[in-house]
Amino acid sequence: MGTSYSVTVSKRADSDQGSLRGAVARELQDIDALMSTYRANSEVSRFNRHRGLDPFPVSESTFSVLAAAQEVSAATGGAFDITVGALVEAWGFGPGRAGSQPSQEAISRLRSEAGWSKLDLDSNGRYVRKAGPALQCDLSAIAKGYAADRVGEALEAAGCTDYLVDIGGELLARGANPAGGLWRVGVERPDASGRVVHRILRITDTAIATSGDYRNFREAEGRRFGHVLDPRTGRPAESRVASATVLHSSAMLADAFATALLVLGEKEGLEMAEREDLAVLLILRDGSGGLREAASSRFRARMN
Ligand code: FAD
Repeated sequence: MGTSYSVTVSKRADSDQGSLRGAVARELQDIDALMSTYRANSEVSRFNRHRGLDPFPVSESTFSVLAAAQEVSAATGGAFDITVGALVEAWGFGPGRAGSQPSQEAISRLRSEAGWSKLDLDSNGRYVRKAGPALQCDLSAIAKGYAADRVGEALEAAGCTDYLVDIGGELLARGANPAGGLWRVGVERPDASGRVVHRILRITDTAIATSGDYRNFREAEGRRFGHVLDPRTGRPAESRVASATVLHSSAMLADAFATALLVLGEKEGLEMAEREDLAVLLILRDGSGGLREAASSRFRARMN
């Protein structure tokens, strides 16, 4: 998935290390083969190339991620939108890394072709359908979280009750760490120059995902463009949120909501977090080179 992963198991149940490794790798390979837009033959890439408006059959796994994505789009007023795929490519953050800074005309056209409401999911969980032939899906902001959930399920099936899964920064923690305590995970300081821990969170039985604008960005004309796009403008999100961390029972939903928060910004983002009862920590640029934090009430309650 263009990233690294690690799995720590505190107490190994009945499975040996080799079979656990195999089970984890199989989950990840399966998801990559279905959902990667970096693979021309994945299910999602084939759907993206499909120009017809007829129902397109998809696997149960892909369907469940598409359905969750639509849920988050509805909950965030469209700030989260997997149909930004063609815009992501045009801004140079997609698999082709071809684009740079698209013209306003190109942005307007690509925006008019996108939109989560143009993606229809049938109620039986079998088919998806485009309302416009050019619609492109990009699951980069949700499928790593889904992968963490799936790896967790595989570990549970192998009898593991205490583990930490980390798929490219999307985490799922269960039970106790090897020392018998809470898992300690670092929230990075949003800084492109290196990896420095901003804050340590002690967690268990939760997923945690962070999205930021500080690692994957480009600079052009003296400005910084991050890889998270605001579907409402078709341009890179411009909020003061440097990073958004979400704790949730589902790593998939934590992953998606974290991306949406970069788009929504502090005020709208925290309103959404309160509405959805999400545990959210935002690290914000204060406008004069410093950082400050803002958190939802659910996050504050969990950390007390
Ligand atoms: P997140 O905030 O979680 O996601 C940001 C990404 O979501 C953006 O880069 C964009 O693609 C998309 N996005 C932007 N705006 C929005 C929005 N408003 N709503 C919804 N989505 C938005 N990378 C490679 O270099 N090579 C690979 O082979 C490769 N394979 C992958 C396979 C899979 C199955 C997945 C899920 C990703 C893969 N990636 C690959 C992508 C890479 O890992 C991404 O950089 C990563 O998924 C983005 O995650 P993030 O945590 O950095 O940011």
